[in-house]
Amino acid sequence: MSRAVASVVTAHQQMEGGGFPVRRPFPTAGLDQVDPFLLLDEMGPVEWPPEEAIGAPDHPHRGFETVTYLLEGHMCHRDSFGHAGELRAGDVQWMTAGSGLVHSEMPHPDFQKNGGTTHGFQLWVNLPRNRKLMAPRYQEITAAEIPLVESNNGLVQARVIAGESLGVSASIETVIPITYLHLTIAPGGALEQPLAPELNAMVYCFGGAGEFGPHRTPATDGQLVLFGDGETVDLCVPDSAFESLEALLLAGAPLSEPVARYGPFVMNSHNELAQAVEDFQAGKMGRIAPAE
Ligand code: FE
Repeated sequence: MSRAVASVVTAHQQMEGGGFPVRRPFPTAGLDQVDPFLLLDEMGPVEWPPEEAIGAPDHPHRGFETVTYLLEGHMCHRDSFGHAGELRAGDVQWMTAGSGLVHSEMPHPDFQKNGGTTHGFQLWVNLPRNRKLMAPRYQEITAAEIPLVESNNGLVQARVIAGESLGVSASIETVIPITYLHLTIAPGGALEQPLAPELNAMVYCFGGAGEFGPHRTPATDGQLVLFGDGETVDLCVPDSAFESLEALLLAGAPLSEPVARYGPFVMNSHNELAQAVEDFQAGKMGRIAPAE
């Protein structure tokens, strides 16, 4: 059975972290989370003049995962345990904050100097109660390492970041079952994506437009499609469309646990949040050494 469309939500635009433009389908006043997903931000696209790119300086996280998928740009990452890395166009960083760390997500110095376009996504994936304090873990995969699979007629392309599509599996290991696909569907193309019935499923459109579910509900650039129960998610782009649909398909096993949020901490109770703040202030999540 094809999953019916439960609702279509339009992302709102806002400035993050001192002036970074994002489109955010959730959380909003009307949509707190899509269990187990806590937040989805489309960062940009924004064209930075030289010396003006903005990043996110040192800040902590505990109790969940942040997944960064960069489409354009060049970012640097550092954390309080000495981990450092770079993200270029097409790369993914799947960071499990777990028990907690302090990190910075900044434009690469060359990018900062020259300016350029930044475009990408940050997704927050919640962790179940018994894994919230797991040791922090990174999975960093380059664009070349992300499986790219095409339908037989060539009209559908899927980059398989997590889970499986068109018979190809991702290399990322997730704590709970997650599917994360970047889909490009040309006019006349269609995908019937099977998903385990227990997963919550959604599609975020960030270019073009498409039709979703058994009633071919339309949605366009900047809209999030939430699906109900069923075995497959159906997407198609009419022959008459002028451009391809660019979309993320996200699905995850709901945790069905209480969610207590305070900024960069996501726990199950207010007491655990208070503990997170106390541990952060006591330096238990570490501090980033000044850059040499
Ligand atoms: Fe962060």
